[in-house]
Amino acid sequence: LFKNVLVPFDESEHAQAALHLAIDLVGDDPGATIHVVTVVSNDIMPPSMISASGAFGEAPVDYSTYESFLSAIAERSDHDLHDSIDSLLGQDARTLQAKLVVDTRLAPSPVDGISTYASDHCCDLIIMGRRGLGALRGMLGSVSYGVLRSSDIPVLTVK
Ligand code: ATP
Ligand code: MG
Ligand code: MG
Repeated sequence: LFKNVLVPFDESEHAQAALHLAIDLVGDDPGATIHVVTVVSNDIMPPSMISASGAFGEAPVDYSTYESFLSAIAERSDHDLHDSIDSLLGQDARTLQAKLVVDTRLAPSPVDGISTYASDHCCDLIIMGRRGLGALRGMLGSVSYGVLRSSDIPVLTVK
């Protein structure tokens, strides 16, 4: 039934539970793909840009430095993500029939990155944690809330 399942991943135990549920659901379907995706915000300024932005009246902003700063962050995040998925799945990865795609996406916000990833890859289901790394307990996280509000495909939230 579900062929492209998106698991937005932030390392939290809730997101880990979401990944395990995705595997339970479509893991034995060789025609299915599970996309594990972390969104890194590109809406941030490197320290060099903050100082260049006026406070000290210094050099003009070097945009190529900013781009390489962002891609270095995304690369680092992608590396960490692959490592944690490898150790999380362990032996399970070998018996997995579904295709596993692990990716990092730069976007202005997690909700934006999750939505655009889902439409770019024709995802038909999103499975995510009800909460994430944030500290508040018992409530729906802001990323889950934003995805639930805006998604036009089914969203399954996991405790
Ligand atoms: P908040 O961030 O609002 O303080 P929270 O961290 O507890 O609260 P969310 O951030 O909404 O809750 O996390 C809920 C789920 O959203 C996570 O379990 C994960 O599936 C997904 N998620 C959160 N942040 C990201 C991210 N940066 N990239 C991909 N998925 C994410
Ligand atoms: Mg990757
Ligand atoms: Mg969060």
